[in-house]
Amino acid sequence: MTDTPPKNELRLFNSLTRQLETFTPVHPGEARVYTCGPTVYNYPHIGNMRAYVFADVLGRVLSWKGYQLTHVINITDVGHLTDDADAGEDKLEKAAAEKAQKGERTSIWDIARHYTEAYWADIEALNIRQPSQWTVATDYVPQMIAFAERIAGKHCYELESGLYFDVSTVADYGRLARARTDEGESRIDPVDGKRNAADFAIWRKTPPGETRQMEWDSPWGRGAPGWHLECSVMSGAVLGFPFDIHTGGIDHREIHHPNEIAQNQAHCHSDASGANIWMHNNFLVERSGKMSKSSGEFLRLQLLIDKGYHPLAYRMLCLQAHYRSELEFSWEGLGAALTRLKRLIGNAEKLREASERGVVRAGSETADQLTLMILQQFEPAIYDDLNTPRALTAVEDVIGFGSAPIAAIFDAVSEMDKVLGLGLLSVRRADLRIRPKSATITEAEIEAALTRRREARAAKDFATSDAIRDELTAQGVEVMDGDPLGWEWRLG
Ligand code: AMP
Ligand code: ZN
Repeated sequence: MTDTPPKNELRLFNSLTRQLETFTPVHPGEARVYTCGPTVYNYPHIGNMRAYVFADVLGRVLSWKGYQLTHVINITDVGHLTDDADAGEDKLEKAAAEKAQKGERTSIWDIARHYTEAYWADIEALNIRQPSQWTVATDYVPQMIAFAERIAGKHCYELESGLYFDVSTVADYGRLARARTDEGESRIDPVDGKRNAADFAIWRKTPPGETRQMEWDSPWGRGAPGWHLECSVMSGAVLGFPFDIHTGGIDHREIHHPNEIAQNQAHCHSDASGANIWMHNNFLVERSGKMSKSSGEFLRLQLLIDKGYHPLAYRMLCLQAHYRSELEFSWEGLGAALTRLKRLIGNAEKLREASERGVVRAGSETADQLTLMILQQFEPAIYDDLNTPRALTAVEDVIGFGSAPIAAIFDAVSEMDKVLGLGLLSVRRADLRIRPKSATITEAEIEAALTRRREARAAKDFATSDAIRDELTAQGVEVMDGDPLGWEWRLG
């Protein structure tokens, strides 16, 4: 994908310049990163979680390189409309109204809390490190109003529906999206009175006669902050402008982040974007097209677990692709990622067993070779715009490094897993076998049937052996004769 970067330099693809750039921190020795978090009106789908696996790897690489990392992820519990631009309803107000229609008495705050907790459960299951700080949008409303007041005079105008940002008042609006200000008639719903199609509301007034569950007083009347305003305010408040890296999914490159940049420019009285590097992960897609929470099978992490896939198999699937490539989800692909993880963890386990048996292997030279392998293969891969597919191959090479002292291999793998976060030395092979929710047969029953089958085969009674296999198949158990990974059976 790129030339090999100069040794020891971390190079990252900056969406602003569409180029690889050497990471140079704003504050020496530190790295300050802001990641656009989820809108908590529903469960996150696994595509959303790809964005956080990517941000997690970025954070881990920065820590590996020795930077003191401050990573902020926000929780959007207000302001995100059903359309990223200015059309539609607030996603959370809509979710609350739908529940009310069904007779459920759930407040918008309960909805936000429920889905935030579900998102945090996915974060944990995917071994995503806790950021330094979660910022919740509704905790920052006074700061949002202050920010809006500061920029309103020079950059905003008021309409009946809210306070709008005039994108023609800042230099080079849309440079991140490579869009011109006059483009966008088709992608952005017109609002009467808007000066430019791309202008956006930074404060939305509650329409007369309506009450919202989430609304605040402001100089522009009762209402709620715009989604773009939230991220500018929370990133600037916690990290200070300019900070190092801002991340999000590739869809944010088109509207949300250009709008954040415009606000940051206005707030800082500068043409600079507010962050030195803007990074975007590409999408996880389904064969049928865009991943969605409303159509087809809703691909939540929990669905994968219910079907018997360990959540770290999904992390492996993400790491197998470069974050800037589109990744197509398929159950076969997930199965292959699980097999790869099983092989890695299985090999690590065999080494552990060998070392517990007191097996000692060759001398110190090979330990040095392992260190070299890390320096020559792994580190250049992760420093080359987080090339995790290449980094995975390096870790496999190290685990399979036959003659090196086992302790040295463990040290090397444990170092590399600080970046990959696959639990290579902490997760057991047996932990990877998850019981599908639909399975009724117990593991003891499966093992008993397999023992009977082994006895039948030993007695060359192939009819009985086949019959047992068919019975197991009927109960959802796949018998895997000769599985090189030593898994004799699989459920689901
Ligand atoms: P949302 O909750 O809609 O604000 O999205 C949370 C994050 O997921 C954002 O960074 C989105 O850009 C990202 N995202 C949404 N859909 C996908 C997808 N299919 N693949 C990867 N990232 C996605
Ligand atoms: Zn954001």
